[in-house]
Amino acid sequence: MQTRPCWVEIRTQALEDNFRYLSSLTPADGELMAVLKADAYGHSLALCVPAAIRAGARWIAVTSVEEGMAARALCADARVMVIGGIIPGQGEAIIANHLTAAVWEPFQLDDLETAARAAGMGPSSLAVHVEIDSGMSRQGANLEHLQALLARFAPDSPLRLDGVMTHLFAADESDGQANQFQLQYMRQALHRIEDAGLYPDWLNIGSSTALVSAVSGELAALAAQYGMKLMLRPGLALYGVVPRFLPEDGPNPALAVAAHSRLEPVLAWKTRVIDLRQIPAGAVIGYNGTFVATEPMRLALLPAGYADGIFRSLGNRFHFLVRGQRAPLAGRVSMDHTVVDVTEIADVAVGDEVVILGTQGEETVSAYDHADAAGTIPWEVFTRIGPRVHRVAV
Ligand SMILES: *Cc1c(COP(=O)(O)O)cnc(C)c1O
Repeated sequence: MQTRPCWVEIRTQALEDNFRYLSSLTPADGELMAVLKADAYGHSLALCVPAAIRAGARWIAVTSVEEGMAARALCADARVMVIGGIIPGQGEAIIANHLTAAVWEPFQLDDLETAARAAGMGPSSLAVHVEIDSGMSRQGANLEHLQALLARFAPDSPLRLDGVMTHLFAADESDGQANQFQLQYMRQALHRIEDAGLYPDWLNIGSSTALVSAVSGELAALAAQYGMKLMLRPGLALYGVVPRFLPEDGPNPALAVAAHSRLEPVLAWKTRVIDLRQIPAGAVIGYNGTFVATEPMRLALLPAGYADGIFRSLGNRFHFLVRGQRAPLAGRVSMDHTVVDVTEIADVAVGDEVVILGTQGEETVSAYDHADAAGTIPWEVFTRIGPRVHRVAV
């Protein structure tokens, strides 16, 4: 049976190439963790885990234990890290699926420790990464609570402090002030960890933005100072999109500019014209008739709406691509449909392929184009693409 034509094409080769290129930007001794959380930013975990592994990824980051189990089913050997926080009662699944948890609350350590003892695990056999709240106030232990956490890694504990993690919350701000504050905070945390006689392997810090800016060098220096290896966690760049730096009218770092020309978009979102109609001058289009035709128009109906992840705010202010040309969205985006104006585009026929996000001929509609028009960021554009949109490897 023909299915409703609304799909995304995932170029797994592009993901592989992007991973290899980003690896080449990683400071010496550094490692990349492929961030494949939230169903690989909507790109499909099932397609992206194998691609990341083929490209040489040894670490994968996912949101939850559920995603971790799905990732584990796709790869036997890579380290799979749950970065979104674990819930009491998940210790057993962490162990059974060989997942690595990012933890910062004593109750999370309690849960892991109990599960590890129940599984008969010996001393230092369950690796965890302790997250530090170096300024974002979202998750992580602060310096005040760190001491009590460190005491949990006694020699007879099954827990091993494998890494120290934090998240830079404003690495895209070109002045770098927040980075400096956070690095200073991390320096203090690492100092205390060393004083406690603990020697974790990994300094797990920095996303795409850090990787394509000068701060990656500072992170590598900090790791080296404490005898650790640097782990960077790119997400968006892996999918071929380089985050923009702030201020928006300021220059981007040279590394980010170079990365922009090298990285390839992994995802293209497509649909097809399922019907065409001619309307006379004076007809209105869509809910509330927000578009009034001032002359006769030809309209194409697309089976893709806000329930598929097209932002409703794009109505009357965006375009998709038909026959290599821009077709403006006419009227509001509906739940399951969008109408585009093809009056100026010759020979449009039912069945024509339409690009919602991606390239057709000489024209491109990027994730940043969607984000700018909808007042959001590319991360949200990708992760809003709904579950009923088929993901197809190409
Ligand atoms: C999502 C996420 C990343 C990846 O961020 P990008 O900006 O997409 O590279 C890295 N670290 C943490 C903790 C995250 O939540």
